[in-house]
Amino acid sequence: FLSLHHANTCSSINNSAPSSSSILPPSHILSSLQTLPLHGFLHHSIPPLASTDFGNIYHFPPLAILHPHSLSDISRVITHLFQISSASFKIAARGHAHSLQGQAQAHHGLVINMESLREAMRVVRIDDQQVAYVEVSGGELWINVLHETLKHGFAPKSWTDYLHLTVGGTLSNAGISGQAFRHGPQIDNVFHLQVVTGKGEVVACSKDQNADLFYGVLGGLGQFGIITKARISLEPAPKMVKWIRVLYSEFSVFARDQEYLISIENTFDYIEGFVIMNRSGILNSWRSSFNLKDPLQVQATQFESEGRTLYCLEMAKYFTPPHEIEAMNKSVEHLLSELSYIPSTIFLSEVSYVEFLDRVHASELKLRAKGLWDVPHPWLNLLVPRTKIHHFNQEVFGKILTDSNNGPILIYPVNQTRWNSKTCLVTPEEDVFYLVAFLSSAVGEGSLEHILNQNKRILDFCEEARLGVKQYLPHYNTQEEWQSHFGSRWEAFVQRKLAYDPLALLAPGHRIFQNAI
Ligand code: FAD
Repeated sequence: FLSLHHANTCSSINNSAPSSSSILPPSHILSSLQTLPLHGFLHHSIPPLASTDFGNIYHFPPLAILHPHSLSDISRVITHLFQISSASFKIAARGHAHSLQGQAQAHHGLVINMESLREAMRVVRIDDQQVAYVEVSGGELWINVLHETLKHGFAPKSWTDYLHLTVGGTLSNAGISGQAFRHGPQIDNVFHLQVVTGKGEVVACSKDQNADLFYGVLGGLGQFGIITKARISLEPAPKMVKWIRVLYSEFSVFARDQEYLISIENTFDYIEGFVIMNRSGILNSWRSSFNLKDPLQVQATQFESEGRTLYCLEMAKYFTPPHEIEAMNKSVEHLLSELSYIPSTIFLSEVSYVEFLDRVHASELKLRAKGLWDVPHPWLNLLVPRTKIHHFNQEVFGKILTDSNNGPILIYPVNQTRWNSKTCLVTPEEDVFYLVAFLSSAVGEGSLEHILNQNKRILDFCEEARLGVKQYLPHYNTQEEWQSHFGSRWEAFVQRKLAYDPLALLAPGHRIFQNAI
């Protein structure tokens, strides 16, 4: 096992085919891994945390954890497993393990703790100084990327709502938030990647170099390689954010306003929305995030929802004081005058850019203090075509769900015309579709079963009504279901697997490929 052929450069290297197809017992594989010279270290005693994730529903313990300190640690280990043809010994890159259904776990296999790979970040300006990128490790947290890039006056353009996730983790999915209607998801804002394939090869890729792997890895659910480095596109960063929420009681008016806002050029920088069902206390709870000195804000807290289903449109406008204040206020005033929300429901606040982007972390701290963060999270994320969203709303928010007490329900449209169709992300076939996210926490006896049952009813309805809905952060148990998820793109997906991970070593937690191709 010591005669390894490993890659440690940034260029594409052809590894030789596996030398043996015999099935080695896991204990032998483990012993052989121990003999590899590594900069980092390999752990055999597994802390329970290695077999858990944010979903807290699936728990598959691995046999070993690699804490890589260099690119060559990752390439050396994968090359080794490929060379000995250990198709049964799977490898999962683990980012911040904020997956929901065991996607970053490897049952009786190897987990690679990507956060150990952190390297110094590098912000590089191009041409006119307004174009820049940051080069980061795949195991870097987005919150760290934010702080580092701000030191240079820049920031990434597209975010997730929560920043304590790794770059490799969100780029394997998409990374969708309120900026995606304009900039596309995070996977559309990457210039270049360094990837270790399922053969242990280190490959540099971009839209012009090894493009098939580049687009395969972006949104590719970790199936074709491990992202060890990414160059992320940046824009000049604002200092402040005007943060606004308004309420609607009519879905059609709410959706019309949301779709209007994402269709115009001079609009908000961030547009999201959520559904509030049967929750009379929620408006008061917003007081903690919003500035009570504003007279409009006081008006809003006095609004009584009386148990109605309400739709909240959430918007943000970036600005840098003092010179942009006037223009920002004018623009916000104009945009709000075009909308038809319930006038007495406006919530306004001005917060720093960091406070705005890191807003979910504030909720995390509160939930942690109450012991409500590490509970099971049976989340369901759907992409619903624009023409079907009214039917979806009537059935799901009118019949299947009776309240939104289990957690936030996000709902907002995005422009697919601004998204790159070459990535591996699967989306509905319309130019505009909605992200609908049921972000449930299961607290109390029977809650998990109840929510899972509700999720199933929602999925069954979408299927029966043929809405053309796609799951985001998809979760399926069989290859047939995956095939149906990918539709006409399935063949290309299988071909990529064959090219980059033919033994199906990588990302077993998705249960797409159990065996070598
Ligand atoms: P992990 O859970 O560790 O890994 C996810 C998958 O990617 C696994 O298959 C893993 O093997 C693979 N992987 C991890 N690192 C790498 C790598 N370097 N190279 C290749 N594959 C890798 N998503 C959004 O789009 N928008 C949101 O607003 C959003 N908000 C969220 C808020 C919270 C509180 C949580 C828990 C999740 C949220 N997500 C959101 C989902 C999140 O983007 C995904 O769950 C993401 O995968 C989490 O990143 P992670 O670093 O924890 O990845």
